[in-house]
Amino acid sequence: MNYVENKTLVITGASRGIGAAIARYTAAMGARVVLSARSEAAVTEIANEITAAGGQATALACDVSDCDQVSALMDHAIQVFGSIDVLVNNAGVIEPIARLIDSDPDAWGRIADVNYKGVYHGLRAAIPHMIGQGGGTIINISSGAATSALEGWSHYCSSKAAVFSLTRCADKEYRDQGVCVLGLSPGTVATDMQAAIKNSGLNPVSQLDPSAHIPPEWVAKTVHHLCGPAGMTFAGTDFSLKSRDAKVQVGLPVS
Ligand code: NAP
Repeated sequence: MNYVENKTLVITGASRGIGAAIARYTAAMGARVVLSARSEAAVTEIANEITAAGGQATALACDVSDCDQVSALMDHAIQVFGSIDVLVNNAGVIEPIARLIDSDPDAWGRIADVNYKGVYHGLRAAIPHMIGQGGGTIINISSGAATSALEGWSHYCSSKAAVFSLTRCADKEYRDQGVCVLGLSPGTVATDMQAAIKNSGLNPVSQLDPSAHIPPEWVAKTVHHLCGPAGMTFAGTDFSLKSRDAKVQVGLPVS
């Protein structure tokens, strides 16, 4: 089945890692993709690569911590492709990693602005378009950190817990208008973020062997899966990719 063909996906944090993989994978399946991140050059390069391969893509610089920039991103998607069928709230940061009393308040607050308020900005800007067109899907990239406590990650754990709450609230308010809002908790993924975690040396996640991480393409396949009927099954919750059952459901390899 193809759940994204001729659909418009807006992806935040698409300059590298999971977001870039989602853009490349869904565009190859016939989706129209809108890539955004702060690095304009990087998202433009990936959009050009997709277009050169026969796909449909556009790119716009957007810092998700800025409400107006996120609204402008949704307007850009409507202008270029005429709809927003799927929003992937993927942009997220973990640095600087530090224990609570060693943390810098401004840096700590910056994580909340990006990881948590960035998702709020995305929901607020995309939902009116989705209601207007009869529905849509919003996938908030979550984490096991949303429901666990890890040393040095108070900023990250609490921001992902807040995202989980936003997923539940948005589902409560807009499910009956056709908007499916769910979270996707991918487990550990081989991206720059895991390299930063390893460098920190704090908590058991930094001790994981890199071979434990899944490739970002598996997360992209899961996003595609959740754009289909499975999405509504998990509306208002986090779909966790950590279990064997979840991987089987998506069609990923299991060890
Ligand atoms: P990554 O490789 O570090 O990529 C992060 C992306 O977010 C980049 O495209 C970055 O682009 C963008 N970004 C950062 N700050 C931004 C801002 N203020 N506005 C807009 N975009 C911003 O990390 P990743 O591993 O792909 O992570 C993607 C998502 O998955 C995050 O929400 C993360 O919490 C979640 N996640 C990751 C893992 C993992 O093991 N890797 C596990 C669970 C959940 P610019 O720097 O150009 O803005």
